[in-house]
Amino acid sequence: NSSLHELDPDVAAAVDAELHRQQSTLEMIASENFAPVAVMEAQGSVLTNKYAEGYPGRRYYGGCEHVDVVEQIAIDRIKALFGAEAANVQPHSGAQANAAAMFALIKPGDTILGLNLAHGGHLTHGMKINFSGKLYNVVPYHVDEKTNLVDMEEVERLAKEHRPKLIVAGWSAYPRQLDFAAFRRIADEVGAYLMVDMAHFAGLVAAGLHPSPVPHAHVVTTTTHKTLGGPRGGVILSTQELAKKINSAVFPGQQGGPLEHVIAAKAVSFKVAASEEFKERQQRTLEGARILAERLVQPDVTEVGVSVLSGGTDVHLVLVDLRNSELDGQQAEDRLHEVGITVNRNAIPNDPRPPMVTSGLRIGTPALATRGFQAEDFREVADIIAEALKPSYDTEALKARVTALAEKYPLYPSL
Ligand code: PLP
Repeated sequence: NSSLHELDPDVAAAVDAELHRQQSTLEMIASENFAPVAVMEAQGSVLTNKYAEGYPGRRYYGGCEHVDVVEQIAIDRIKALFGAEAANVQPHSGAQANAAAMFALIKPGDTILGLNLAHGGHLTHGMKINFSGKLYNVVPYHVDEKTNLVDMEEVERLAKEHRPKLIVAGWSAYPRQLDFAAFRRIADEVGAYLMVDMAHFAGLVAAGLHPSPVPHAHVVTTTTHKTLGGPRGGVILSTQELAKKINSAVFPGQQGGPLEHVIAAKAVSFKVAASEEFKERQQRTLEGARILAERLVQPDVTEVGVSVLSGGTDVHLVLVDLRNSELDGQQAEDRLHEVGITVNRNAIPNDPRPPMVTSGLRIGTPALATRGFQAEDFREVADIIAEALKPSYDTEALKARVTALAEKYPLYPSL
């Protein structure tokens, strides 16, 4: 019964160092967030010890009476949060939610339509060496070269030409909203299922600040750790009609025992996501991204070749276009890291630089909004980023401004 520090000082030291990193820098990776202490408490609980193959009330193991309660709470809460008919809260991750949803709906060799990875899609939407690219015949769709918006005419043309069994709508790097009704109309025209992967924008949907895909899609998948702000994990929402197929695809189709400690943490985060405080936080998330986009299209920034893809954002992230900048994505990521801001480089559509270098940055505001940042703080962050992307910049001065912001909003003070 030793503590982590007593039993394993090596791991404990790395955990402590990571806590310090999160506290002292500004986290702007668009897919990250800070889970509440109560969520981490649930995830670190004795539920990690329990085997519970099956579903609440229908388990293959004894002693499941308490985890049944937890899993049913998680299911009921997320159904209510998104107005879904059915929910499976067992997928260990977003990738596994997508794998299970596809496993339920289509067969190996079937054709799927998904947004190309370099145009903002996710690996699981049909990347060549991902399971999705290996098992299915993938036809990628793209964003329009001029507008950088998903080209719905191309989606319709490809759907009619290739007659996919499944159309995947959703993204990992895209600054605008998708037209779910249009996707559904196209899917219906060719007899395909529509799956929406709302991993990135689920928190915005929960807060009512982004259109919901739930009324339009046959199946909606999500992660629980991005804008939704919970533990790392996945969820599948579906119509009642598809619920049995989805459940059997997750277990026994894809997974063994569910992670009930993570499901408990998911349940807690769904409670938080239904609160007024959460809605207000998502509003600040959107406002922060808008402030950042507006700053990065000012003349002092555009004259050094930096701009913003699609000219702005409707969501929690901004895609910075460095195609005309001396800086490539790697150098820009390193520079921001140097001043204490964590982002990731990202390939942008028709990127002339290689994938390990790229000509883009993906910058998101969910974690800072969770930390408490207000509009004035986002204006300061946006200005620091704008200065850091210019040819000459004062590292020490920018670092000091980052530290001042980090100290203004102490993170996890009780840990
Ligand atoms: N779907 C989308 C749209 C994502 O952006 C991601 C992760 O970045 C995933 C799925 C996969 O989630 P996970 O990393 O939990 O497997």
